[in-house]
Amino acid sequence: MMIQLNSVTTHESFITKIMTIDIAIKDNIARVQEKVTAACARAGRDPAQVTLIAVSKTHPPAAIQAAMAAGVQHFGENRVEEASTKIPMVNQAAEKLPTWHMIGHVQSRKAKLVLPLFDVVHSVDSVKLAEKFSTLALEQQKSLSILLEVNISGEEVKDGIQAANWSHDAAVKAPLWQTVQQISALPGIELRGLMTMAPFYDDAEQTRPIFADLAALRAALSADFGLPLPELSMGMTNDYMVAIEEGATLIRIGRAIFGERDEF
Ligand SMILES: *Cc1c(COP(=O)(O)O)cnc(C)c1O
Repeated sequence: MMIQLNSVTTHESFITKIMTIDIAIKDNIARVQEKVTAACARAGRDPAQVTLIAVSKTHPPAAIQAAMAAGVQHFGENRVEEASTKIPMVNQAAEKLPTWHMIGHVQSRKAKLVLPLFDVVHSVDSVKLAEKFSTLALEQQKSLSILLEVNISGEEVKDGIQAANWSHDAAVKAPLWQTVQQISALPGIELRGLMTMAPFYDDAEQTRPIFADLAALRAALSADFGLPLPELSMGMTNDYMVAIEEGATLIRIGRAIFGERDEF
């Protein structure tokens, strides 16, 4: 009898804990959405042009399900191994399948694991990787949306194709233009735009020139190649409002929705 009571108590506290996390995630999402709306208003943009991607890396399926219950339909993961257990679990239980975004670096040899799991890959950073996705997409008869990840800040640690100073430096612009030409010609994949990660600054205003430069690069490529390139994936927890003001269409938010991550 004693055991029975204990197990009931434990179960109840477990449920209470889950409910508390669910409510926190729901509140966090509402707060982010308010800020998205405010940033759009400042920039004269329609909030429908900005898609919120909840970055669920390191968080369990239950957290993703709580965000789905609060209306989020797009999720971002950065590691193939982690995603290959989580995504099928979430999809299996979902009434409506979410859209999955791969936002982390992909090694070519892991591309075949990425393709069946994800709808959009933000982190294509070489012709070689794009060719790999193209071949796999044709084989598996799946179409894949991709973004070209560029390093626009010039910060050394960041992934992405070198793009710092593209508008002034022909030695940067020429290979970048060649990359876009080659990737956009590949069958089975659709180049939809650009992605960047800004360096972390305490003052988000410092990211503004980086986001503005990514928007300018998108416009220049779109004009030169006659490609729509509708997507600009830029802005994370600390800088998404500035990114929206500079034209972001996809914002990638982790901590502001799910809380701080354990070191990963
Ligand atoms: C982790 C991650 C994010 C989310 O960062 P937060 O600061 O938690 O919002 C966005 N983009 C990429 C590429 C990431 O790896």
